[in-house]
Amino acid sequence: MTARRKPGPGAEQSSARAGSWSPTDSQGRRGAASAGGVARTQTSHPRATRRVGALQGTPLSATLSLVMSQCCRKIKDTVQKLASDHKDIHSSVSRVGKAIDRNFDSEICGVVSDAVWDSREKQQQILQMAIVEHLYQQGMLSVAEELCQESTLNVDLDFKQPFLELNRILEALHEQDLGPALEWAVSHRQRLLELNSSLEFKLHRLHFIRLLAGGPEKQLEALSYARHFQPFARLHQREIQVMMGSLVYLRLGLEKSPYCHLLDNSHWAEICETFTRDACSLLGLSVESPLSVSFASGCVALPVLMNIKAVIEQRQCTGVWSHKDELPIEIELGMKCWYHSVFACPILRQQTSDSNPPIKLICGHVISRDALNKLINGGKLKCPYCPMEQNPADGKRIIF
Ligand SMILES: [Zn+2]
Repeated sequence: MTARRKPGPGAEQSSARAGSWSPTDSQGRRGAASAGGVARTQTSHPRATRRVGALQGTPLSATLSLVMSQCCRKIKDTVQKLASDHKDIHSSVSRVGKAIDRNFDSEICGVVSDAVWDSREKQQQILQMAIVEHLYQQGMLSVAEELCQESTLNVDLDFKQPFLELNRILEALHEQDLGPALEWAVSHRQRLLELNSSLEFKLHRLHFIRLLAGGPEKQLEALSYARHFQPFARLHQREIQVMMGSLVYLRLGLEKSPYCHLLDNSHWAEICETFTRDACSLLGLSVESPLSVSFASGCVALPVLMNIKAVIEQRQCTGVWSHKDELPIEIELGMKCWYHSVFACPILRQQTSDSNPPIKLICGHVISRDALNKLINGGKLKCPYCPMEQNPADGKRIIF
């Protein structure tokens, strides 16, 4: 009867309480409930079986029966303890399932209204393009190619080229080969300087440090390489001085000198970072993959959007989400996601856009163009903050 019951904490406990406990072997078969049965199933040693056989039929001595009853009590206690432990675990485990059910909403696609996409095909194409761009950016070129082929996405060479070049140079940098990066930096020198980039200087510095690490026999080569620092003398005077100072310790060994920090391996990680950042900004690419940024932002925004969805459904105010490129409420994504400033018109309480830009009035107050147009009265405008009267045409557009 008990063996057929569903195994659970209750099963062991009730049978243990009833005092009819009998050992169960690994296959779950129950042995006989008698003391002899216990002995038979517990051991299969031939000598032990012979001894048990001799004991069969004879009454147990007082000591033996005391030991047996103590043993039985111990087993009973242990089983009870195991059963209650199991019950604890079982209830916690069953709670986990409920917690997952409660917190996991499988209906997340309903959060965004379909109206924000032009069409389903367009939506799919944008997603595929974002994935392909992400793969190119991460240097997974073959995976990106495969996806392009399988999704019949047409990615032209002009789009791929910058990623291919960046990856080739970055791979070389990871191998501590400065050649391709230096070549690239020299050919883009003017534009890098306009961006205030110190990439070329850092690459030359790393090459110089590598020569220093070669010891005294590389001294002449290092000195002649130092002429590459000449165009950067004004901007990086301090760093150049440090490098020249380190030459004094070349004979003693740079690693035992106050300049040992020059040999630090972190310079290589830094140059990869500098190169990625500066090359991306020169080529007009974002340093972080747009897909990663969107995904991370989505993870932050999703719970809020789910709540809004519930509220909208509850109050049946379906028209709230009417703007295509704007969420119905503002969601704080944290400093990490701050890319540029935004301006919300203090009059209309709307974020300004290209079609409704912020306008600075001659008194210094800023309002949106739509608000300005609404406030014009008889060809004159009265600032809503200070009562200065002015010509609406004097307002100037501000670009953040
Ligand atoms: Zn004003």
